[in-house]
Amino acid sequence: MNWHCKEVDEILHSLKSSEQGLTTDEAGKRLISCGDNTIKQIKSRTVLHMVLDQFKDFMIMVLIAAAIVSGIIGEPKDTIAILVIVILNAVIGFVQEYRAEKAIEALRMMAAQVATVIRDGEAASIPASDIVPGDLVLLGAGNITPADIRLIKVAHCKIDESSLTGESVPVEKHINRLTDNMMPLGDRKNMAYKGTVVSYGRANGIVVSTGMNTEFGKIATMLQEQIEVRTPLQKRLAKFGKKLAIAVLAICALVFGVGLLRGEPPLLMFLTAISLAVAAIPEALPAVVTISLAIGAKKMVKQNALIRKLPAVETLGSVTYICSDKTGTLTQNKMEVQEISISGKTIKLQSISTQRPAIDKLFLAMALNNDATRQKNGRCLGDPTEIALYRISEENEYKKENLLKDYPRVTEIPFDSERKCMTTFHRTPENGYISFTKGAIETLLEKSIDELNCEEKSAIDKENIHRMSEAMAQRGLRVLAFAMKEWTRLPEDLTPKKIETGLSFLGFVGMIDPPRKEVAEAVALCKSAGINPVMITGDHPVTAKAIAKELNIIDNEEEIVTGGDLEKLSINAFEKKVADIRIYARVAPEQKLRIVKALQNQGEFVAMTGDGVNDAPALKCADIGIAMGITGTDVSRESSDMILLDDNFATIIKAIRRGRRIFDNIRKFIKYTMTSNAGEIWTIFLAPFLGLPIPLLPIHILWINLVTDGLPGLALTAEPEEKRIMKRPPRHPKESIFAHSLGLDIIWVGLLMGGVSIFSQAWAIKTGHGSWQTMVFTVLCLSQMGNVLALRSEKESLFSLGLFSNIPLLGAIFLTFVLQMAIIYVPFLNSIFKTQPLTLNELFLCLILSTIVFWGVETAKWLRRRNRA
Ligand code: ATP
Repeated sequence: MNWHCKEVDEILHSLKSSEQGLTTDEAGKRLISCGDNTIKQIKSRTVLHMVLDQFKDFMIMVLIAAAIVSGIIGEPKDTIAILVIVILNAVIGFVQEYRAEKAIEALRMMAAQVATVIRDGEAASIPASDIVPGDLVLLGAGNITPADIRLIKVAHCKIDESSLTGESVPVEKHINRLTDNMMPLGDRKNMAYKGTVVSYGRANGIVVSTGMNTEFGKIATMLQEQIEVRTPLQKRLAKFGKKLAIAVLAICALVFGVGLLRGEPPLLMFLTAISLAVAAIPEALPAVVTISLAIGAKKMVKQNALIRKLPAVETLGSVTYICSDKTGTLTQNKMEVQEISISGKTIKLQSISTQRPAIDKLFLAMALNNDATRQKNGRCLGDPTEIALYRISEENEYKKENLLKDYPRVTEIPFDSERKCMTTFHRTPENGYISFTKGAIETLLEKSIDELNCEEKSAIDKENIHRMSEAMAQRGLRVLAFAMKEWTRLPEDLTPKKIETGLSFLGFVGMIDPPRKEVAEAVALCKSAGINPVMITGDHPVTAKAIAKELNIIDNEEEIVTGGDLEKLSINAFEKKVADIRIYARVAPEQKLRIVKALQNQGEFVAMTGDGVNDAPALKCADIGIAMGITGTDVSRESSDMILLDDNFATIIKAIRRGRRIFDNIRKFIKYTMTSNAGEIWTIFLAPFLGLPIPLLPIHILWINLVTDGLPGLALTAEPEEKRIMKRPPRHPKESIFAHSLGLDIIWVGLLMGGVSIFSQAWAIKTGHGSWQTMVFTVLCLSQMGNVLALRSEKESLFSLGLFSNIPLLGAIFLTFVLQMAIIYVPFLNSIFKTQPLTLNELFLCLILSTIVFWGVETAKWLRRRNRA
């Protein structure tokens, strides 16, 4: 449906008078007729694409071609068997990739934007995609505008339109006073456009276009380029893979040459060399990394960590500093006023009634300078600080909604964390004006010139107030002060500098915001894992310190740095001490960026939390930017790598723990695959030099690598975490994947595996066992099962882990064993795989030989454990 200006104007006028918004029914109908408020994505990969991609690898194509050619001139059975193996491998690959793609899709959906609209007369949070033309949308600082909106109410609203126009200075939005005629639709000053960011203030408006009809939608197709993000590990693996491929190809050429010299059939040697190359070049490793990360990320959602950027899962294990907000992340954000202080006296809640009327003006300020609202169902909506003030004033018969009838709010200067205060203007019953300002105690003391008590102004004793507020803060309370000013007429210039000055101090309150119960334990875990927790807060240093002590973030009298100190410190001086600072108080969000950079310059790997509009640069700059799911603004979420769905610090630690486990398991997968490959290469490469025939046929090589190796390898990703996972220091982000003896293990375990296989070949040939090839095939395949069991842990023995602690792996091993037995004993498969049934003695010998690798790896781990002790 096309929305003409006239229709929109009609809606604008009807809505302006009612301000009830659309009804759910009406919105539902419009959603059907106008479509989703989404930007159509360039078609992502189809299932068919995904299937075809499995065969896209160059070496696989060469193998298929070689198999077909050799089938035509040799044995067609070979061709069919090779094709079946390649298809089986593709099926395993496809299923995994499909699961990963679905997981990523699900994560994307969960991270989708929500918007606040008025539906059925009440504010409601709905998915931004459900917004329809005519919806009444409420915008606040930090929101990303969900559609093209014509503004009908504006309170100092500035919008950053750089995503649309490239202009980085936020644009101030205007409407002529509500009673005036509205500006024409084309005027950009009264429009908020989809994708732009509200950087300051608030506004309400009516949606005029959605989805592809928005300005953003019109240019969106130009902006859509699919950027493939590769994790650091993937990049390194891809680089390493290229080098390894060259080495493997050289070995294959050598195997081919030596085979020919020994008089083996050229076609067989050619196919052997190609099969070996296909099997040993680890071209699938980067893909496996994506799959493990995506599936891991999906599991992390259950622990309330929503990953927005996949590489974060991998890099979580490298975090050395977590810089966390206090309010809501370390604390519960369940504010409750506990104490009130007026005229140099601190009053407990129980004795408030005895203090009237002195306290009345303070309650008036609490109720009126407040953005919390009560919904029809009785629930309060708004910032927890505001809700606490709303409640306490309501309990004392100062109900905001009633008071607004006598003191309507005419304008306001919204809160921002740099000024640390907010002001509202109200008309008084006497037709004058009164402004109430509330904010941080030192800010209000600075702005106040006298004190108001029972309508009487008196001199203000700032020192005493300061002392009393410090005492309150020492008890861990959050202190908020109030002041007011009377005006005969509404000032023209509504800038904070002009308005928030010459105030009369009314008093202050202390609010309790208890630490989250689980955080102390998380902080301890964090420290044991070599990660430094740091508190960054806009709150008072004394309050910050009290909470930090309670949570054991600091042990003694460690240094607290305030935003003010930070301003004064030179970059060099700050960087010298940044590693030791555990608390930053009265910090403006912009300063967070400086903290991240200083830590990074010291070689630290920093996770930083943030929720406000000004946190975005720090979140982007941090190695892991963490946004809040409940209280976070759209911009902070968009700038983050991970979202805490419960805003809880403990969730970060859970995510790090999970990230470490995922990375460990990827390492185990790499180790397993590469030792197996090395084992095969050594077997085939060394045999001719020892005067033995080629030990395995191409089909055996492919079977081991593409089928039997794959299943246990994937089951390794289900491996439980290592016992001391949170007792070891963070992994250096640039550390090689082959560190901690992984590279060495690949070489020696591969050699051992190759050695055992060649031994079984030599022994079987020497003792006249006609089925020697089947024996080598079986020994190699089963050795890998032993290997996978032994490398489940880097240090612990399988017996202390418990054989049954990874059931999927046991299942995979069992299945592989059954398949191998089928190949040996089912006559039909014998002819395809060129195997012979083994006698019981031969099978028994194979089983014994194939445990050697298991015992070898277990012994190496035992030696490592002994060295550690
Ligand atoms: P954190 O940074 O840990 O999340 P915070 O909420 O204290 O904590 P800001 O939101 O930047 O950080 O607030 C800074 C200060 O501004 C607060 O300590 C308080 O003194 C004051 N303040 C907070 N909320 C309001 C509000 N709604 N109205 C007026 N002043 C406020």
